[in-house]
Amino acid sequence: MTRHIFVTGGVVSSLGKGLTSASIGMLLERRGLTVRMQKLDPYINVDPGTMSPYQHGEVYVLDDGSETDLDLGHYERFTTGKLNRDSNYTTGQIYQTVINKERRGEYLGRTVQVVPHITDEIKASIRRLASPDVDVVITELGGTVGDIEGLPFLEAIRQIPLDIGKQNCLFIHLTLVPYLKAAGEAKTKPTQHSVQQLRTIGIQPDILVCRTERPIGTEHTDKIALFCNVEKRAVIEEVDKEFSIYEVPMGLVEHRLDELIIEKLGMEAGELDLEDYRELIHRIRNPRHEVTIAVVGKYIDHTDAYKSIYESLDHAGFAHSTRIIVKRVEAEDLERRGAAALLQGVDGILVPGGFGMRGIEGKIQAVQFARENNVPYFGICLGMQCAVIEFARNVMGLADANSSEFAGDTQHPVICLLEEQTGVENKGGTMRLGSQPCVLSEGSRAMAAYGTANVNERHRHRYEFNAQYREKFVHAGMNPVGTSPDGTLVEVMEVDDHPWYVAVQYHPEFKSQPNRPHPLFTGFIGAALLIRQNRPKQLVE
Ligand code: GLN
Repeated sequence: MTRHIFVTGGVVSSLGKGLTSASIGMLLERRGLTVRMQKLDPYINVDPGTMSPYQHGEVYVLDDGSETDLDLGHYERFTTGKLNRDSNYTTGQIYQTVINKERRGEYLGRTVQVVPHITDEIKASIRRLASPDVDVVITELGGTVGDIEGLPFLEAIRQIPLDIGKQNCLFIHLTLVPYLKAAGEAKTKPTQHSVQQLRTIGIQPDILVCRTERPIGTEHTDKIALFCNVEKRAVIEEVDKEFSIYEVPMGLVEHRLDELIIEKLGMEAGELDLEDYRELIHRIRNPRHEVTIAVVGKYIDHTDAYKSIYESLDHAGFAHSTRIIVKRVEAEDLERRGAAALLQGVDGILVPGGFGMRGIEGKIQAVQFARENNVPYFGICLGMQCAVIEFARNVMGLADANSSEFAGDTQHPVICLLEEQTGVENKGGTMRLGSQPCVLSEGSRAMAAYGTANVNERHRHRYEFNAQYREKFVHAGMNPVGTSPDGTLVEVMEVDDHPWYVAVQYHPEFKSQPNRPHPLFTGFIGAALLIRQNRPKQLVE
């Protein structure tokens, strides 16, 4: 019998529900259980694919091409269970399914209502992950308890214990215990209110995880237990981590959260195996080197917009015992102030993915700076397209080279629309998405990094390298060293005579884990480290 854990959040958003859910998933996996993770998002968009990174942060792409919430990135970084379309549902998807059923006549004769039809569909979406070989499904509910749009989801998870037995379900509620400087103490009232709200809906949390800036101690957790009707040992404080998000599971283990969950769900599980993870944490806490990497993008002030990129850089840093200092460079700022003013002295430059015109020229200048000054360069998706444009303009002398995404009338569309995209009008879920095979050339840096010629990577794009220019690029020293197996689509470009210059059409950042960093990120940071170590001391500042 598959057990279900539901993780809800209260008081405020951005409490790190995704990280906590992922950490719980990791601990259960490391006790030998098979876990499936899932996120339910109460917004009406069918998926986050068409939302601005300002609204939603990064769009995280799965192997099967689903465009999902960035919390799924945490799940994949912390756990090993496969994610797919069923791992992220939104209100939009649920309603779309119900309305389609109604049109097909599946509810013939009945009035279609939020309860039971929408709630039944939500329950079915949760139960879809249960199967004989899955021990636990962890379902995280987006938003905060009390949001109007979250109500059908809460009602659905309230009903599940009635369907499958209370003993097979566990409700974990994440709240904030703020520290009030003026009063000089932590306050439990917001937590009490948020649990009260949950109980009004009919959900009694079994475990409370209390986010705090500083330790609050049993005096406060005991009080929370009493007022919230939760066992004392099930009120767990989760103090902000000093070094890294990867320490979150360790904090939960200290409070024996894994044991508590397993006991409450009446499961049998193995010993907790954290040996390699403790070693990882030791490396994270004690870096021996440091490099500065410039990330040149257009959502630089938004931490979540390039989440997986920042995490992947850190993972590669862990492998090299190197602390990564990310210098976030706003592409438009670079256009105004010039590349040298912002990039002088960095050890590596990365241009991530993106859409639309804004900041493009700044990104192109960043690539030029990297190429001309022998700074390791890593281009990802749009970062590869900018690299191709830069090379065409400044090395091949094609002054107006551009992407047809930005200049439909350019003489030299070195980046052009993918053939399969011609005539596609709908914006949602229509890009070239998900895992695709790529074949790498012998002798390339990419192949050296991966250690194999055949790789699979995730994509999310509409434009591609224009094959008509292939010979000309090779002739000038920029080589397509990775292509689709039939050779038609260019996936990886490298430049000769440079310490490390790799540009990829795909998104390697979606496949990096803290203890299994992505080979291209590891190669990039390795090259940056060499640059740093060989640089005359006075320039390091
Ligand atoms: N805008 C570019 C395209 O659609 C790049 C996309 C991306 O960086 N994800 O091809």
